[in-house]
Amino acid sequence: MNTNAKIVIIGAGASGITAATKLLSYGFKNVLILEAQDRIGGRIYTVPFGDNFIDLGAQWCHGEKDNIVYELVKDKNYLDSTENIYDDYDCIRSDGEVLSETTSNKLKEILEEYLDSKKEDLPTFEGSLASYLREKFLKTSELPRYSDLDRDLVEEFLNYYHKFEVSMECCDSLFDVSGKGHLDYWNCEGDIGLNWKDKGFVMLLRTLLQTDGLDFGVMNKRILLRKEVTNISWDKSGLKPLIITTACGLTFEADHVICTVSLAVLKEGFKSKFTPSLPERKLKAIQGLGIGTVNKVFIHFEKRWWNEDWCGFSILWKKEDLEELRQSKFFWLEDVFGFYAVKYQPNILSSWVTGSSAKYVETLSKSEQMEGIMFLMKKFLKREIPQPIDFIITSWHSNPFIRGSYSHRSMETEHLTTGSWDLAEPVLSPNGRPILQFAGEATHNHYYSTVHGAVETGVREAERLNQFYCDKKKSHL
Ligand SMILES: Cc1cc2nc3c(=O)[nH]c(=O)nc-3n(C[C@H](O)[C@H](O)[C@H](O)COP(=O)(O)OP(=O)(O)OC[C@H]3O[C@@H](n4cnc5c(N)ncnc54)[C@H](O)[C@@H]3O)c2cc1C
Repeated sequence: MNTNAKIVIIGAGASGITAATKLLSYGFKNVLILEAQDRIGGRIYTVPFGDNFIDLGAQWCHGEKDNIVYELVKDKNYLDSTENIYDDYDCIRSDGEVLSETTSNKLKEILEEYLDSKKEDLPTFEGSLASYLREKFLKTSELPRYSDLDRDLVEEFLNYYHKFEVSMECCDSLFDVSGKGHLDYWNCEGDIGLNWKDKGFVMLLRTLLQTDGLDFGVMNKRILLRKEVTNISWDKSGLKPLIITTACGLTFEADHVICTVSLAVLKEGFKSKFTPSLPERKLKAIQGLGIGTVNKVFIHFEKRWWNEDWCGFSILWKKEDLEELRQSKFFWLEDVFGFYAVKYQPNILSSWVTGSSAKYVETLSKSEQMEGIMFLMKKFLKREIPQPIDFIITSWHSNPFIRGSYSHRSMETEHLTTGSWDLAEPVLSPNGRPILQFAGEATHNHYYSTVHGAVETGVREAERLNQFYCDKKKSHL
């Protein structure tokens, strides 16, 4: 095996770090990561906050069976169940009415029917996920057993859940998400809400790097921070090395490049930083696949003022209140769907800003953001809320090296008949050598939008190179 092959990986997120560490484990010696930011992790970003740490990006390990992240850490006692936080929430209307358990359970039951029927209905459904959700939910709510439900209330709950689904899909509009394409995503069996206790998702990075501390472990001296790649050029004959240029004027030579920048970064302009330009099929995938922004909110209070077993509440806007909100400076709060307790953080409530408001909220000052969030909590809880001692809203869109949160299967993906497989396809030299490879969550056919998806794509590209050199060695024997 040619363990001296020079491999440059662009990006030190989950996929880049996995690819690098896997290559080292195969015996490749010349592995280097160029990372634009002054930290590793990309969309894994654990910071000190409140009583211990919070995750500004990825927070949960979604599932156990066939989940590579779970497999990597399952013996380390890092993970814990989030239990019922996202099931046992209160439903509160904008006039302060807290729905009775019977009523909210009926609405949640309709939701369950929608969730259960997706697998059967969506393969033949031609429209968007939003159309399917609305049709199915409203139709089920008309069944005789739900005849006592107030129709306005049904609509309010549906609007709440619509926003929740927008956050899961990470899109500007759920009408842009393909109903059929939504089934490309596979859930891993087991607990889909495993949290990282009081330490955060950074523990995965430390596991990959085999370190207990802040150093880069097995990647020490092999990760260069603040190295924004601005061009990758290669020779079509495949005889000369690739040249990677950075914004600070450095150049690096490589036999192989693995590019892991996010789909949003590729869309924004990185797609034109390749010389020669990328193949048509890949450009189509970059255009078609969707990615939006979801921003998280963390509010830290001096003391918990809610009951210990309270999970939080979901927001149900009454029509007239919503109209009023839309005319006010707080219009963006329509895209905040609830407030929830956080495991291992007794004094913190969390929330999400979804849809197009996720980008808008990044343009507001911290005091404007907090004013809005406090207004919303007071409006629904109808009580005095103590002033928070700390407050964070993330800004994933403004980050020039991320530009969004995670990818989804858009309607345009369907129209262009493209998909993650086109994004994942490597550029080969005439003799079949992978010159330019792609990894990252958006290149995964089924676990896109997740860390376990990103990690699997890093393994996939490391294996591709290992296989190439193994085959080459065999042919020389
Ligand atoms: C708010 C939020 C919540 C999430 N929640 C979860 C969750 O609970 N569970 C879950 O599994 N997943 C979650 N995700 C998704 C998960 O974080 C991502 O799928 C995963 O981390 C992506 O890893 P990646 O390696 O594909 O990309 P990235 O992490 O984006 O890594 C790419 C790296 O490339 C670098 N880069 C970009 N441009 C350049 C350049 N020009 N030169 C050099 N380097 C460059 C970036 O700085 C970055 O470090 C969440 C994401 C967000 C934002």
